Amino acid sequence: MKKSVVLYKKLSAPLMARLHEHAEVTLIDALDPPGLAKLRDALPGAHGLLGASLRLDAALLDLAPQLEAVASVSVGVDNYDIEYLTRRGILLSNTPDVLTETTADTGFALILATARRVVELADMVRAGQWHKNIGPAHFGSDVHGKTLGIIGMGRIGEALAQRGHFGFGMPVLYHSHSPKPQVEERFGAQYRRLNDLLQQADFVCLTLPLTAETERLIGAQEFALMGPETIFINISRGKVVDEAALVEALQQRTIRAAGLDVFEREPLPHDSPLLRLNNVVATPHIGSATHETREAMAECAVDNLLAALAGQKPKNLVNPGAWMQ
Ligand code: NAP
Repeated sequence: MKKSVVLYKKLSAPLMARLHEHAEVTLIDALDPPGLAKLRDALPGAHGLLGASLRLDAALLDLAPQLEAVASVSVGVDNYDIEYLTRRGILLSNTPDVLTETTADTGFALILATARRVVELADMVRAGQWHKNIGPAHFGSDVHGKTLGIIGMGRIGEALAQRGHFGFGMPVLYHSHSPKPQVEERFGAQYRRLNDLLQQADFVCLTLPLTAETERLIGAQEFALMGPETIFINISRGKVVDEAALVEALQQRTIRAAGLDVFEREPLPHDSPLLRLNNVVATPHIGSATHETREAMAECAVDNLLAALAGQKPKNLVNPGAWMQ
């Protein structure tokens, strides 16, 4: 008999066809109250779950006694209680690698947009306010040759370093759990303690996961170490930053600008003070959001889920402890 899979993310027709071949599929169209009610109804029969952007906590997963595998369509796994899943022997998989380059592109889009004030000045043109040649009040600052600081030198951090080093001639500083000799060799990158990086980098970019250790890693003290010309970029997770402290630093101009793809609360509330600051470029969590990459991520998640439900170890298993059971 086919196993039951609950999708809480729409897939392309070819991927849906693949899933239907191997499983009974229930699709939850939207994560709104009716959709969540449908999800709760489907959980008791579910062997597999596939989706993203939903906090799957123990209260929800307790409704799914037959659950064998969860395939997240994301690389970040902060929405999952990994200890709980492991205890129950539920295999959690994610989609690393396929989104690395696209997310690094997003990081660079934010670097360029903030430094060259692209959004602010394009809005000015659109509003019919370009009356004469612009002067220093509208100048930006260079990106090429400036120091790129990367916090979290993993896959995405490395792809950002590659762009900075080869594309823009930027010296690269980085902070991570451990030094990365291969990154130092390839990009001339230099390891720094966190506080030193904050003081020395022109662009401070966050590319680390949200964990108990990284939650609010960057707060008032850290912003105080940055200089008035520093540009802060976050493409990791909003909760790695104390957002109130960020707003304060931007309002007081103790840092110059911020390019933000992720926020403490998403969608970002309309009344967020960040949206009243013209030195902020805010994007709606689009790190991996291209047609090609989202399809590759979905395919990777389907591969992981089908492998797990067939009794094989998924390629991107997050909790090996669940496999050992
Ligand atoms: P990764 O390869 O696992 O890299 C994460 C890096 O962060 C690792 O190198 C790790 O260092 C470092 N790190 C972890 N905790 C740290 C800490 N407390 N202090 C210093 N460094 C720390 O992950 P990735 O594929 O690059 O993805 C990184 C994160 O980006 C994801 O977890 C996700 O949250 C986010 N992301 C966001 C988007 C978006 O749409 N904006 C898209 C994709 C990913 P060590 O190697 O030394 O342990």
